[in-house]
Amino acid sequence: MTLVPFDDRDGWIWWDGALVPWRDAKLHVLTHGLHYASAVFEGERAYAGNIFRLRDHTNRLINSARIMGFELPFTAEQIDAACNEVLTANGLVDAYVRPIAWRGSEMLAVAGQHTKIHVAIAAWQWPSYFGDARMAGIRMGLAEWKRPSPETAPTAAKATGLYMIGTLAKHKAEQDGFADALMLDWRGKVAEATGANVFFVMNGELHTPKPEGFLDGITRRSVMSLARAHQMKVVERVIEPAEIPLASEVFLAGTAAEVTPVAEIAGHRVTPGRVCETLLKDFDALVHKSPEEVARVVAG
Ligand code: PMP
Repeated sequence: MTLVPFDDRDGWIWWDGALVPWRDAKLHVLTHGLHYASAVFEGERAYAGNIFRLRDHTNRLINSARIMGFELPFTAEQIDAACNEVLTANGLVDAYVRPIAWRGSEMLAVAGQHTKIHVAIAAWQWPSYFGDARMAGIRMGLAEWKRPSPETAPTAAKATGLYMIGTLAKHKAEQDGFADALMLDWRGKVAEATGANVFFVMNGELHTPKPEGFLDGITRRSVMSLARAHQMKVVERVIEPAEIPLASEVFLAGTAAEVTPVAEIAGHRVTPGRVCETLLKDFDALVHKSPEEVARVVAG
């Protein structure tokens, strides 16, 4: 596999209000965000030029920063405009968009109150997160690392520090030949994948864990609206790992993963079927609608 390093590409990155050449978007090594994980980010996808649920992502970025104790120096309108500006500047219509906000280098100790807050936004092409295997269903192992309790970490924020656990779990899964890992929470209940939420089809209903210690994904909420539009009952509840064999279908939902059917999870085989196929197609249709139509569907 030929990797094109992320710091050596053509294009433009938005940084604190202006576009800078991609290769010049560099940080000083003594940056608070790097040493102490005082950073929050978003992952968005643009389809045919429209960023799916952009304002929801921007609001989550602003809220994640507040949970981490800082205010972004830009309004939601400015951040939305900047995300679109990055797409245009890079000539992208179908792309992944990555805003990030972090504490700067004015202080470098655990305390960082007087650091300047920075925001940058990049975008690049990122076809399917799970590649060609996606439609057939991915194989997921079971992570040894658990999602921390909301009393231990700011689990409602999309904060970089939380991804330390995800990277460890994902590396182990890939070493073992899996595409991803199912993570349990601090109580040992089913939580999510390393970068996406998980759904189970049980008795014709859609069951998914309550977002009590992990991100309440924007894709997750979109998929729940789509399922309800098919008169499918959606149940958010505590799910025990022992219940996994009762699921007739399993899939992941996330911005990068989109709707990804699962063929194996924590040692159990499942066959992607009609529900996976329907919701995958519906989600694909939804993301290609205008922002106004999307708002109508997800409000329903
Ligand atoms: N959980 C984790 C850990 C994630 O990184 C993501 C992707 N942001 C999700 C869930 C799904 O969230 P969304 O649908 O908003 O992308």
